[in-house]
Amino acid sequence: MLEALRGFVFDLDGCVWQGERLNPGAAETLAALHRAGRGVAYLTNNSRARGAEVSAKLRRLGVTPSEPALTPLEIVGDVVAERYGPSRVLVIGAPELAAVVEGAGHTLVDVKAWRNATVVAVGNDFDLTYERLAAAARAAAAGAPVVTPNLDPRLPLEDGDFLPGCGAIVEAVCVAAGVRPVVVGKPEPPLFRIALARLGLRPHEAAMVGDSVTSDVAGGHAVGMRTVLYAPDGAPPDAADVVVRSFAELARLAGVAP
Ligand SMILES: [Mg+2]
Repeated sequence: MLEALRGFVFDLDGCVWQGERLNPGAAETLAALHRAGRGVAYLTNNSRARGAEVSAKLRRLGVTPSEPALTPLEIVGDVVAERYGPSRVLVIGAPELAAVVEGAGHTLVDVKAWRNATVVAVGNDFDLTYERLAAAARAAAAGAPVVTPNLDPRLPLEDGDFLPGCGAIVEAVCVAAGVRPVVVGKPEPPLFRIALARLGLRPHEAAMVGDSVTSDVAGGHAVGMRTVLYAPDGAPPDAADVVVRSFAELARLAGVAP
């Protein structure tokens, strides 16, 4: 089935890499797919970096992306504008998140002025404080919708280690406020559709490859893509259209093994 596909969209954290280390065989398989003329795109739920920064990391680790990786930061400001118009946004997250929100024409609201916020944007925040958490929860409880790049519980690192993900912080805000967030990234459809458009492919002509059933497999399936679960420790065979334990196995199934 994978042999007939014209393109592959890869998740990054936990799939192509763990932290600063490429997973075994990733560079070889990605290069082989590219050489074979198959479309290759990258789609990550990263809430702290734009596509160019993520693409630079790919190159640093030895993978040459044919086009910039996609992250929710590419569209989060536009999603807020489409849904709520020009907004006063309280941002809890990385400076990159605040920059893209402001770049889309919204006004940033200081933590102490949370009452003025009409929207709360929450990303992974390595400088999270109780004051920021309280401001976001209060603004959300007062009626400002919560918008987030993703609900991923963990950011996987090397050797099975992890950092709490964007989802861990969003859930803290939403539990306290008694609301649910609007999710911009995977598993929602927009970024999958942009990736397919960049590859010039229809959904059934491409596979989404990732390590998350709830984000990569569910999201890819929902837009009509084929799905591949990357599971080095194994997974039930019905967890996705195809389950692979390694990039070598993926290359074999895709017909590009050396
Ligand atoms: Mg992942």
